[in-house]
Amino acid sequence: MTNTELQSDLLAWYDQHKRDMPWRDCGDPYKIWLSEIMLQQTRVDQATPYFNRFVERFPTVHDLAEADQQEVLKVWEGLGYYSRARHLHDAAKLVVDEFDGKVPDTWDNITELKGVGPYTASAILSIAFQKKYAVVDGNVIRVLSRYLGIEDDVRATKTKNAIQEAADELIPEDRPGDFNQALMELGATICTPSNPDCEKCPLQGSCVAHKTVKTDEIPYKSPKKKRPHHQIGVGIVMNEDKEVLIALRPEDAMLGGMWEFPGGKQEEDEEIKQTVIRELKEELGVDVAITKPFMKLDHAYSHFKITMHAYLCELVDGRPEPQSSQEIKWISIDELEDYPFPKANRQLTDKLMNLDKGQQELEI
Ligand code: SF4
Repeated sequence: MTNTELQSDLLAWYDQHKRDMPWRDCGDPYKIWLSEIMLQQTRVDQATPYFNRFVERFPTVHDLAEADQQEVLKVWEGLGYYSRARHLHDAAKLVVDEFDGKVPDTWDNITELKGVGPYTASAILSIAFQKKYAVVDGNVIRVLSRYLGIEDDVRATKTKNAIQEAADELIPEDRPGDFNQALMELGATICTPSNPDCEKCPLQGSCVAHKTVKTDEIPYKSPKKKRPHHQIGVGIVMNEDKEVLIALRPEDAMLGGMWEFPGGKQEEDEEIKQTVIRELKEELGVDVAITKPFMKLDHAYSHFKITMHAYLCELVDGRPEPQSSQEIKWISIDELEDYPFPKANRQLTDKLMNLDKGQQELEI
């Protein structure tokens, strides 16, 4: 199969089989940019309701640029990787201030936007502006490594570069954005990690992995390093008015701009309750006493896992000051739903709100 045949067969397959997505074929660079940011670490089915809600609230780049960061984070809440939302918001302001409200259509300008690296720039420029930049994501790596019979470790930079070069060679002048989406779509729906449906694949005739019966072996991925697992102690400090103390994470930290209950990592040879007492002293400059265990939960991030141990606490001495957070607040339990919280903390707020609604014992 020549490159030209591959291009036309793949595009014909795409025209017939592509799935509907709210950003697909919309022709709006802002929505295409937003979808690419959301899809950086999130699957299509998970991202779609967030995309719809985001576009409803911020239909244009101007609406987003004018919004308050807390509101942007609130709409993003639950999608994770919150720096994406903060960077998108900053970038929207830049688009309005520097680019007359138009998403830039050149490599140099678009890569000035926060959160837009080479991969996302290629995706936006090809899909929104029909520029010839090849996109290589996990799906494309799987399709091309199988199609070309590349048996080297696809986690290695050298292999990724070889696949990028192959994609650069294959991408056509005409419909480069559709070609990129077609390869990704093929990887997502036909050339799946296990049991690829080769009988339905437009590339079958020239696919090395199919011919050599190696679809189970390609792509080869070296084993991942085990993610570390941290124990986190968290204090839910409640006052006599049944208000709880929440803290705003520093802008440049992981989960920056989100609210949380104060706490932190257990140190070696430390009891978890001791962790809570020490962390609250360090973070807020107060002494607390633990009154009750509240909740224990597990949560996984991309590079580590945590078990969170949350305790109800009371203040024993001192006035809370934000020593390592941007801001702290006492708020009523009802108000917890108005603030953006990351997922693990949101489980704590949900339990607090449910107990409160059920008028159940919440005293410290
Ligand atoms: Fe993937 Fe099979 Fe198509 Fe090859 S023929 S690209 S292995 S689906």
